[in-house]
Amino acid sequence: MNYVSTRGSAPRLGFGEAMLAGLARDGGLYVPEAVPVLAPDEMAALAGLPYEEVALRVMRPFIGAAFTEDDLRTAIAEAYAGFAHPARAPLKQLAPGHFLLELFHGPTLAFKDFAMQLIGRLFQTALARSGRRLTIVGATSGDTGSAAIEAFRGLPNVDVFILFPEGRVSEVQRRQMTTAPEPNVHAIALAGDFDACQARVKDMFNDFAFRDAVGLTAVNSINWARVLAQIVYFFAAAVALGAPHRPVRFTVPTGNFGDIYAGAIARRMGLPIARLVIATNQNDILHRTFETAEHRTEAVRPSISPSMDIQVSSNFERALFDAMDRDGAAVATLMAELKGEGGFRLPQGTLAALRAVYASGRASEAETMATIARLHAAPGELLCPHSAVGVHVAEAHLGAEPMVTLATAHPAKFPDAVEAATGLRPALPPQLAGLMTRPERVEHLPDDLATLEGYMRARIAA
Ligand SMILES: *Cc1c(COP(=O)(O)O)cnc(C)c1O
Repeated sequence: MNYVSTRGSAPRLGFGEAMLAGLARDGGLYVPEAVPVLAPDEMAALAGLPYEEVALRVMRPFIGAAFTEDDLRTAIAEAYAGFAHPARAPLKQLAPGHFLLELFHGPTLAFKDFAMQLIGRLFQTALARSGRRLTIVGATSGDTGSAAIEAFRGLPNVDVFILFPEGRVSEVQRRQMTTAPEPNVHAIALAGDFDACQARVKDMFNDFAFRDAVGLTAVNSINWARVLAQIVYFFAAAVALGAPHRPVRFTVPTGNFGDIYAGAIARRMGLPIARLVIATNQNDILHRTFETAEHRTEAVRPSISPSMDIQVSSNFERALFDAMDRDGAAVATLMAELKGEGGFRLPQGTLAALRAVYASGRASEAETMATIARLHAAPGELLCPHSAVGVHVAEAHLGAEPMVTLATAHPAKFPDAVEAATGLRPALPPQLAGLMTRPERVEHLPDDLATLEGYMRARIAA
């Protein structure tokens, strides 16, 4: 299986190299050259299997010769062994025809653990084999950083630098990034918003001298291996509800577009997804794009669902590439416009192609709070604010097929918002005991590329 860049001019790579590279050298994102299809009987055979076995069967065709089946089986088993629920991604019914897919039973309480726990192990295997040393850098709105640190702390041959927007993450999120004692973990509080963090990371990748000197790689959702691991739970949930015989709908609380893009790949693999709904908070660039064809950034407005406080949604580039008939040069032109002028207008055909796969909706802060309160009253479900955005939007898209809303984080990760909506302060699950009292270690740095690179070189040398 080979991977090509969405901007059309980077070398094509196998799975292992695409995973270790993170971002393509032309600034694009890697996507599979061809998406493998699961036949209906192969899909039906997934029913009732353990999550780990579903993961193996769904991911195997994307990996090619990069890892043996035994490597993959072992990595999957270890990745999910620490999850607090035996089903890994349990489905709960909220209302007739509406289900919640709980993706928050991993070690850092957000769906990011599904991919990060797995790629931590795959990186380890690949680096041990090649003797290489890498520097992982990631921008985070909170959950990617904690999941990455949890997955890579203490691993040999890897330094991990995580940039988060100072003061814009919840206390639980911050502590999950600043309390790891391992010396290969470096949490950086950047004086800027999430888009600034993401922009500096992209600048580092464009600084080829720095990139090559430190062996830079990314484990943000721009890394294809992250998207791959997230395809699995779309299959697990849909098959539990009757796929391939019965189609389903999904609603996905969306920021950087990685999670919902995994759903789009599942659909191309043959999973009958009748509707794939993008749910945004008040930072609604994606919803506006679908309404108006104008993809135009505005200032980020901090919300109670901070992991979705994004204007530049990186993985949307992958959806554009698909919608533009995989024309890398055309995608590169739109991305240059986005960078230079803050936005672009979608060509007619592209918008139509996107609308054939995705629908969209938004939830205001008040609607999000009201949804948390209402679902707590009946059926008694405590939602994190991101999941509540999803439920609010999903309710406007219910129909003939069962709807699955992705619950992307545990309510205890965002206790202030949950308490404000319900009067109830959710307790941290037992595996996080001690988090609120451990000593923190964090570097405060300005939004400046040279300073960041200097700091990183010094830490790597130390
Ligand atoms: C990361 C995250 C999202 C957004 O997911 P994307 O893949 O970036 O679209 C939504 N909710 C939570 C809790 C998250 O951590």
